[in-house]
Amino acid sequence: MSARILVVDDVDVNVRLLEAKLTIEYYDVLTAGDGATALTVAAEQQPDLILLDVMMPGMDGFETCRRLKAHPLTRHIPVVLVTALDGREDRIRGLGAGADDFLTKPIDDVVLFARVRSLTRLKQIMDELREREESSRRLGVEADGVARMRSEGGRILIVDDDVVQAEKIASELSGEHRITIESNPEAALAVAKGPLDLIIVNVAAQSFDGLRIVALAKSGDARRAPVLAVVDPTERSRMIKALELGAADVLSRPVDSEELAARARTQIRRKRYTDFLRHKLDSSLEMAVTDALTGLHNRRYMTTQLQALVGRASHGGAPVAVLVMDIDHFKAVNDGFGHDAGDEVLVEFAVRLATNVRAVDLPCRMGGEEFVVVMPGASLEAAGSVAERIRRDVAAAPFRVLGGKEQLTVTISIGVAVTTGQSDTPESLLKRADEGVYEAKAKGRNLVIAKAA
Ligand code: GH3
Ligand code: MG
Ligand code: MG
Repeated sequence: MSARILVVDDVDVNVRLLEAKLTIEYYDVLTAGDGATALTVAAEQQPDLILLDVMMPGMDGFETCRRLKAHPLTRHIPVVLVTALDGREDRIRGLGAGADDFLTKPIDDVVLFARVRSLTRLKQIMDELREREESSRRLGVEADGVARMRSEGGRILIVDDDVVQAEKIASELSGEHRITIESNPEAALAVAKGPLDLIIVNVAAQSFDGLRIVALAKSGDARRAPVLAVVDPTERSRMIKALELGAADVLSRPVDSEELAARARTQIRRKRYTDFLRHKLDSSLEMAVTDALTGLHNRRYMTTQLQALVGRASHGGAPVAVLVMDIDHFKAVNDGFGHDAGDEVLVEFAVRLATNVRAVDLPCRMGGEEFVVVMPGASLEAAGSVAERIRRDVAAAPFRVLGGKEQLTVTISIGVAVTTGQSDTPESLLKRADEGVYEAKAKGRNLVIAKAA
């Protein structure tokens, strides 16, 4: 299940460094020291992602990227170009060469994993979609994907309270796209429910919390438009959070017009491709891995990931911890305020959960009002303190539901468990954490109970 990543760099030390970082985080790593080798390895080994250095002697990163994107066997593999810190020209050239994303040197680990995770996940979805497209073609159904992959004429929503910046972004995009600007977050979320190809959110806004908009825009309908987050480069933690919450990409302020236009185009093309395939095949693949209400991973996705992680832990790999959490007296919310209010509580809980875990953790909705977080590499103690932080954050501030008319105090009970040796299975691990939940409920709820084996 874990993704394979091809690292391409002419400097061996850079290759080894990235290889080490990625291996620790459970990725399978392939390497190449030059562009020509990269083309061969990519075609033969079919990695899920390529991290490609721009500056290489002989065939440089741009040319390598162009060839990868021109070849039918490698066209669908996302390429992340690794550019110099001040490489604005490089970034624009890279987008022209078909690159999907960028990382600047020196590589920031959190940004690296956020991007790797989002792109490999997108690739998994695209792979399944393409498989279905191929089988429908075999059945004689015409699948005219390329013609529909236009990147102009997109419907873009800009959520920003900085009028000057919003107008500037709008005027740069309005030649090619249809733009709506909203400075009011509620109105923006209402617009976001309609058909859109891209949402640009200023997460450095003064009058509303842009991160909440990102999280809410990514919850609900799994077919939602991608989010491009406008960030203040000095607010690094907000940028990281935006990516963790599901923003497809970030743009630093002040916004560079060419970079903006190019990135908008890339996102819109990607959105249309998935829309097209979905429409054609009448099935939503995102639904295969995502919980439709909250936008978190679903049980199926969690189960496959946990299986791989527990397997590795029992063969001498890093441990894996799980948090199982259950909302206390949730039935009372439904009974007292209605099912819709209950759903709003679940969505708000998912937002608080997602904002309190690390980039490598997998927050999932198991079903109903039960959630799980899978934490690769975490000890029982570390997982316990994350659980305690989540518990506190949920209980600390009331949940606003029914358009703010009601404020509800919500609490949760959490059980924590970690792998210990060869005998662990995903089932035994989840069962141990479940026992923690029962104990917490029995002791009065709003508690974390960590269960040593
Ligand atoms: P406890 O503290 O013991 O966990 O009590 P509880 O009321 O939370 O637990 P119980 O399992 O009795 O009730 C869970 C309720 O969650 C019952 C079910 O109707 C409701 N529920 C399950 N899925 C959903 C959903 O998707 N939306 C809403 N609104 N309610 C749901
Ligand atoms: Mg329950
Ligand atoms: Mg409950």
